[in-house]
Amino acid sequence: MQREQAVQREQAVQQLLRTRARAVRERDRAAFLATVDPRARELRARQAAVFAALEQVPLGSWEYVLDAGTAEPADEALDRRYGRGAWWAPAVVLRYALEGFDPRPVEVDHHLTFVRRGGRWLLAADDDFARRGRPTPRALWDRGPVVAVRSGGVLVLGHPGQQRLVREVAGTAAAAVPRVTRVWGRWSERAVVVVPDDGRELAGLLGDEGELSRLAAVAVAELRGGRDEHDPTGERVLVNPQTFSRLGPLGRRVVLTHELTHVATRRASGPAVPAWLAEGLADVVGYSGLDLPRSVTAADLRREVRAGRAPMRLPTEADFAGDSPRLSSSYPAAELAVRLLERRHGRPAVLRLYRELGARRGVTPEQALVEGLRRLGTTPEAFTAAWRADMQRQLG
Ligand SMILES: [Zn+2]
Repeated sequence: MQREQAVQREQAVQQLLRTRARAVRERDRAAFLATVDPRARELRARQAAVFAALEQVPLGSWEYVLDAGTAEPADEALDRRYGRGAWWAPAVVLRYALEGFDPRPVEVDHHLTFVRRGGRWLLAADDDFARRGRPTPRALWDRGPVVAVRSGGVLVLGHPGQQRLVREVAGTAAAAVPRVTRVWGRWSERAVVVVPDDGRELAGLLGDEGELSRLAAVAVAELRGGRDEHDPTGERVLVNPQTFSRLGPLGRRVVLTHELTHVATRRASGPAVPAWLAEGLADVVGYSGLDLPRSVTAADLRREVRAGRAPMRLPTEADFAGDSPRLSSSYPAAELAVRLLERRHGRPAVLRLYRELGARRGVTPEQALVEGLRRLGTTPEAFTAAWRADMQRQLG
């Protein structure tokens, strides 16, 4: 391709992306759909649905960033479909922020195909590269109409069929916000909760094919630029509707308070924060203000302890995975560890330990924990032994 043509192509696609972004922000349906290739009927119908679904979503920003220097290589199948030299699939990133909720935009890699029709370039596909492992992620609004409910500092997004659950989640999550603040201290006191229709949609939103059925909700964030940088954005709590709905009001309160704790602590939860500390603190906050007996909160762990199968070591990240056989006993095990630290050193020292570990970079989590516990006058081995003894006392 001639350089001049390449420049024209880039300018045309750049312009098209600007038009699309402005059309979303200014709610101009005709302008939005005019950027789609008329021959791409299925895409056009989907784009019309997405545009309608975005109506209730409070967008603070919405833009596409084009990287013309990075594009999909030559492809015979696409040459046959669109004509040789008549298609182009450069790297495009959607950057958007939910108004009042995302302090910095969320970035999503889109894998779009643009085609030349006459003298114009138009959007022809967003799924040509899915088979090669580069699908364009489908957000909630790509999956059906969206309703949005606000309550206090909480925004809940779901589909119309889940309106009742969306409302209830909004109320329960809003009530959880001050509970989190009372323990953790200052945070944005803003949270976005997403209620998909079912577990399948949840898996799609998470891009996770793993076992999710036992999770009532999960807190996630975008971590771009490597784990050690820990620069999270786009914090969301996703509800697993069937599992969540099986819980009573108390269980729902505990789950949402637990997940909002993850949202509040996310920036402070760098790679050196051990899973038991993050999950244990989230459970301490989750149960705050309640006086639930251990027979309720630690039933599975108590059974293990009484059967002589008490865990030998503090739970790790893998113990909290959806398919972990220790999932239900790992939460109370972590909670007991955090409560033990609180009894011995006081809550401020525990929160200080959390923030110190969360700020560590360039050390292994193990080394960071050794140093963190040393400041409290203990070691991982001594603390683990004390935690096991405490577990026997509380549950044996
Ligand atoms: Zn958790």
